[in-house]
Amino acid sequence: MKKLWIGGEWTGSSGGDVRQIIDPATLEVVDEVVEGTAADARRAAARAAEAQRGWRKVPAAERGKFLHEAARILREDAAVLSMLLTREGGKPRVENLDEVEWCAACFDYYAEIARNSRGSSIPPVAEHQLNFTIKEPLGVVAAIAPFNYPLLLATWKVAPALAAGNAVVLKPSELTPLATLRLCERALAVLPPGVFEVVTGTGPEVGEALVDDPNVQCIAFTGSTAVGTRIATRAASSLKRVNLELGGIDPLIVFEDADLDVAVPGAAWARFLNSGQVCTSAKRIYVVEGLARDFVDRFVAHTSTLKVGNGMDPETDMGPLISARALERVHDQVGRSIAAGAKLLAGGRRLDVGPGHFYAPTVLTDVRPDMPAVTEEVFGPVASIQVVRDGEEAIELAARSEYGLGANVFTRDLGWAMRAMSEIKAGTFWINDPLTDNDAAPFGGMRKSGLGRELGEEGLDAFRETKHVHLDWVPERKPYWYPYANRKHEVPK
Ligand code: NAD
Repeated sequence: MKKLWIGGEWTGSSGGDVRQIIDPATLEVVDEVVEGTAADARRAAARAAEAQRGWRKVPAAERGKFLHEAARILREDAAVLSMLLTREGGKPRVENLDEVEWCAACFDYYAEIARNSRGSSIPPVAEHQLNFTIKEPLGVVAAIAPFNYPLLLATWKVAPALAAGNAVVLKPSELTPLATLRLCERALAVLPPGVFEVVTGTGPEVGEALVDDPNVQCIAFTGSTAVGTRIATRAASSLKRVNLELGGIDPLIVFEDADLDVAVPGAAWARFLNSGQVCTSAKRIYVVEGLARDFVDRFVAHTSTLKVGNGMDPETDMGPLISARALERVHDQVGRSIAAGAKLLAGGRRLDVGPGHFYAPTVLTDVRPDMPAVTEEVFGPVASIQVVRDGEEAIELAARSEYGLGANVFTRDLGWAMRAMSEIKAGTFWINDPLTDNDAAPFGGMRKSGLGRELGEEGLDAFRETKHVHLDWVPERKPYWYPYANRKHEVPK
């Protein structure tokens, strides 16, 4: 049984509940975890605030050494971490090995950038003065992570927040806490006690207690738009900083000049990766009329080659959905879209390849912009294809969304790529290489997909404040101080 990690040690919860973590492929119990409470969250935040007072004074280069060491241990521990990630979340093991490597690379990146990152000096407005800015940590950051990339999306918060001198209390998804808890005993055990803590439990109990806690200065959240909106509303009453990485219904356009040998497998991967449970999955696919038939035939043929099964099997391309509830929701969205006129070309049903929550990779065509398949975020393996007259119509429809996380195009025509790039609101725009991230480049959403950015220098600044320092190196009485009688000649008669 796993416990909470507070003050650099394992500790029980103030409540008595225990949660079973279920493998979504086999429905076996992988492990048990004590369920944290609001009181545990407050205890962790108080301990983190105490630890942060020392951590902020550790020179950035020293903090960088801790982060490099964490990266090294992460890589060393990749076999165990990837196994835990697959067993609790269902993703194929190879995707989880990638996830662990991306986390290690992110720790390495922030170890360096935080110690290189500078404030600025500003020309003073008078003699013998200096003006400069320094960057300071915020204090305690509450990081709240989703189930689909438990380690990666925690790391995008934890690495920059620690590098900037903050302490972090992390709440993983209640469905996938095991790999995160493994960080406490391995990669992040190198940190001084209290600087990094993990409290497991539900959003309404532990998450909201962290959002409300006066020791917490910033909430870094990744998850659904509904929960993110609720958090922002709550945090507003205490003016806490919020970074929100939320949902998306990303478009992917296949223009008429696209090479289908690239666009077909690229679009399939962009939609079916992690069983379609990716915030930046290509949830709306637009194909121009001229090559639509060819594209759809080849897309369906490619989909039929995907091997669905337990992610522990190295041959598996696509694992199960995270829960029975998730599967029911996806199936309901597919059903309502078919009822509204969409045509089912593949899948559309549960797959009997094991006891878990397996759903067949699904292809819908004749999708219209008002169908649930594209108006709701379908967090499952459902490719929704809309055939459009031409590139103009594709861009117009792709741009029509209340979300703005990512957008993708396949084309060799720079004109189409740039027109789409400038018309579509999206935090990331991918041309011919969907869903690829770069630690040094910002990631985040526009509109209902979020506030703020992770990764890159922006991702470090998300956890820092700017302090302006005004220094006069000649201490002297200023002529503009009291008494104003000395300045009465300046006042018009
Ligand atoms: P979710 O919103 O249900 O949960 C995310 C986290 O919030 C979990 O840890 C949960 O326990 C917690 N939570 C729930 N209610 C809360 C509350 N009232 N207060 C505080 N915390 C609360 O999301 P999920 O199902 O885990 O993940 C899927 C969603 O996340 C999708 O919408 C997806 O698009 C989005 N997502 C976004 C990004 C991104 O970077 N923009 C990345 C991954 C996932």
